[in-house]
Parts: sequence; C-alpha cells; structure tokens
Amino acid sequence: MTDAKTMRAAVLADFGSLSVVDVPIPDLEYGEVLCRVNACGMCGTDLKIVNGGFKGTWPPSMPFILGHEWSGTIVKLGAGTEKSGLAVGDRVVAENHAGCSACPMCRQGRYNLCERVRDPGFKLYGHTAPGALAEFAARPAVAVHKIPDSVSDLAGALVNQAALTVHAGRRADIRPGSTVAVFGPGLLGLLMLQVARAAGATQVIVVGRGARLETALELGCDAVVDYEKSDPIVEIRRMTNGRGVDYVFDCSGNPAVVEQLFRSTRRGGKIAMLGLTGGKTATLPIDLLALDEIDLLGVRSSPNCYPATIALMASGAIKTEPLTTFQYSLDQIDEAFAALESKQVIRPIVLL
Ligand SMILES: [Zn+2]
Ligand SMILES: [Zn+2]
Repeated sequence: MTDAKTMRAAVLADFGSLSVVDVPIPDLEYGEVLCRVNACGMCGTDLKIVNGGFKGTWPPSMPFILGHEWSGTIVKLGAGTEKSGLAVGDRVVAENHAGCSACPMCRQGRYNLCERVRDPGFKLYGHTAPGALAEFAARPAVAVHKIPDSVSDLAGALVNQAALTVHAGRRADIRPGSTVAVFGPGLLGLLMLQVARAAGATQVIVVGRGARLETALELGCDAVVDYEKSDPIVEIRRMTNGRGVDYVFDCSGNPAVVEQLFRSTRRGGKIAMLGLTGGKTATLPIDLLALDEIDLLGVRSSPNCYPATIALMASGAIKTEPLTTFQYSLDQIDEAFAALESKQVIRPIVLL
C-alpha cells in the first residue's frame, strides 16, 4: 500500500446527509488487519441510520462512517494476527462483530446474540464502530474470512445478507425433499430461495409482486405467487395438495402478512422470520400456532455461517449476478441512497 495517511470516506456528519471527505486511515489495534475496501452494499438499516431512525444508538456519535456489507483486500496485518491464517493480498469479507467471547451466548457459539453488544466500547462495525463506505477498514482478524477468486468483489458484498439466509436455513433445519415458501423477493428473499434449494428443498415458492418475481424464477424457484393477482394462501395450498409448505421464510418484514404465513404452513411446520418491521407489531393467530404446533423462529445475523455461505457462492449454488447490477462510485453516494430509498433497486453497491 501507499504511505497515504488519509482516505476518502462517505461520512455522516448530520442526519439526512452523507458527504465524501478525507479522513485518517484507521490505526490498527491488537489483533486487527487493515483492508482496502473493494465493494460496499447499502441496505435499509443504513438508510434508517442516515435518516436518524436509530438516533442515539446507531451511530453513537458523529461524524460516522457507515457500511457493513462489503468485500476487500488485506493490505496490512496488525500485531497479534500472526496465527490468523490471513496474509496481505487476501481477498476477504468480514462479519460485523465477533462477539465478546466471554458472555454465555458467545460461549455457546451464538455470538450473534452477544449480551455485551450494547456495552460502551463494543464495536459493531457500521453501527457503533466505523463501517466500510471508505477506502480502508480495520477489522479484528477473527471476524475476517477469505474469499476465493470464484467469488467476485460484488458477490462478496452480498455475503453478509446471504449468510443471514444460511443461518435461517440452519435455524429451520431444512430437510431434503421439503417444500418451502419465501415471502418477500427483496435481496434476502432472492438469496433465501437459493439457500433453501441448496439445503435440499425440492419445491420453492416465492410470494411477492412485480419484476422481482421474474428474478426469483431466474434464480431457480419453482413457482411464484403475485399477491396482487391471487391469494397466496389459496395458491400455496393448491401447489401442496392442500397441506401447506413445510417451511415458510418471511423476508418481507411486513406485519400484515403474518396470518398468511401461518395459513401457508402445514401442520407441524416451521416459520422463520428474517425481516424486520421497524418496531411495528403484528397480530398472531395463536390458535393456529398452538393447535397446528407451528414452530415460530426468530433469525438474527449469521453466527458461524460465513464459511458455508462463501462455499455456496463459490460452488454456484448461490448466484449473485442478477442481484449486483446497481453499481455506483463513492462520488455517487447520494444517487445510491436515493435509489435505495426509492426501492427501485435490489441492492445499490458502491465500488471503491
Ligand atoms: Zn445491512
Ligand atoms: Zn458476548
């Protein structure tokens, strides 16, 4: 790397506006590596952070650098990374945090539920610690994973979200030969359908509307239901001999569809919820939950899922090309955010 001391970054100095400015390249702490960021996607959480939706929590202070869905190349190894297996020149992706390694949840390997995540000084990158909408990012080596040549920089920027769907598949314990419905063909849903397929589901139905259903078919689902044209419950039951599917994955985050999720699930089936509602509450059909013994699962982040996710991408089981067509430069950051806000693009990705 060069001896430059500063880097360009998209900095949030006030809610509602990002500007590209020069900031210091981060110093490495013990156990950290420095990465040149290659690509960084932006999601609904970023948008909400920018607009002040998590005021006081994310970010804890300003100015702040966002961005947590990214890929990069290691340019420097810090002290204490000698046994990490990482080297300068490795192309990598990084988890947003690696837990505290001490609390009960971390000790069970469920570091996505780390009990110290809100403690002062805990680094949740892109939320409470500097993110990757910048030329460089420092990360603990334990949170960093190598990607092979067959996973592009653009695909790497989707590992964060794809890993969430892998965690969802594991939480639900998808069995070979099963039936699956995915509600919400946004980025998560379009990844979820592929992970369900890779886990052995033989019938995958995607519920949504508009052009994204075409993308869902392109990515390998068996059938789609446009909820503007027909009733998802009727259609899903028709396609499953009246039984409903074994697994439902909600990637919509729409509280209004909760009843549909339940009525699309077979007796003894499972519903996994990946989508967030932004604090809204839903009505729960308790009798169905109890009498049909439906398992309702929450899904957060992606503990221990990065290696499997990268392998699924490398093998071609997760395809990303149709999901990474909206690319921007750092100078186009406002355009990228406007595109995200308009919901016209699946995932804006900034190439750095
Ligand atoms: Zn995100
Ligand atoms: Zn912990």
